[in-house]
Amino acid sequence: MKKRLTEFLIVFLAFVITASLGLLIPKYMNNVFDSEVVDSEEETKEEIEKEEDVAIPIEEPETPKKDKPVDTKPVTNAKSSNCTIKDGYLMLINPNFHVEPDFIAARKTELISLSYNYGIMEANPNNGDNLMDPIAAAYLYEMVKAYKADYPGHELMTRSCFRSKGTNCGRLCLATGTTDHHTGLTCDLIDQSYGSSLDTSLYNQHLEWQWLKANSYKYGFIDRFPSAWSGGPMSEPMNVDENGSTGLFETWHYRFVGITAATEIATGKYNNGNYDSLEHYLKARGIITDLKTAVCSDK
Ligand SMILES: [Zn+2]
Repeated sequence: MKKRLTEFLIVFLAFVITASLGLLIPKYMNNVFDSEVVDSEEETKEEIEKEEDVAIPIEEPETPKKDKPVDTKPVTNAKSSNCTIKDGYLMLINPNFHVEPDFIAARKTELISLSYNYGIMEANPNNGDNLMDPIAAAYLYEMVKAYKADYPGHELMTRSCFRSKGTNCGRLCLATGTTDHHTGLTCDLIDQSYGSSLDTSLYNQHLEWQWLKANSYKYGFIDRFPSAWSGGPMSEPMNVDENGSTGLFETWHYRFVGITAATEIATGKYNNGNYDSLEHYLKARGIITDLKTAVCSDK
């Protein structure tokens, strides 16, 4: 009887110990696991914070190398049937050379905020996202600084840079897929101390547009729609023709093409010394063979 009681006690104790361990060990393991999760979460948070530190705008971005010509290597991974997209900063988007919605969406992801990265603010915040190609943005920043140096106290602001959608307001506005604003290389620019409306008839009072016309090529930008290439008065139907007419006249619309091309366009290398249109320039260089039916050369 005593032996049986002893055996029972041994079995009972063994059961209690096993049961306790069975309950305690998983709890202990859970605690260890939980604390590891918390640690790794905290690490991730720290890493994100570190990454955010890196992304804070730099006060003085590296000055672009102005003597380095920007060639026609592709600058976007966005795909389009538009044959000029492969031509880098010389890509042409107009009513004849259009792009698809997929191109526009993909191109947008490659752009950076001018406000956030360079403190270049948008005069009308409801007019787009103030986005631009990173290289073009660095050159724009240099141009804005140069303007400020020439006109102390003045501020060159954007009105509209990248656009995901076209606009519909007659000849001055272009449908989705056909506007130069899809390139990510373009901004409408204004110094609001001379007035806030974009109106070509106010050109003489807007000293910033005159300054841009004379100086922007030094920073790789061109007057994208000079009046001589507008293809007639703006009251007439749009005329984007085989000879290089742009169909538009906008004294505020500046487009990055790189310093080499901008200099050749502004000084009229292929236009008897007169300001060229991008369309005419691309045909004169043999990059485009047909401006009306949107054919590129095989070069
Ligand atoms: Zn514009």
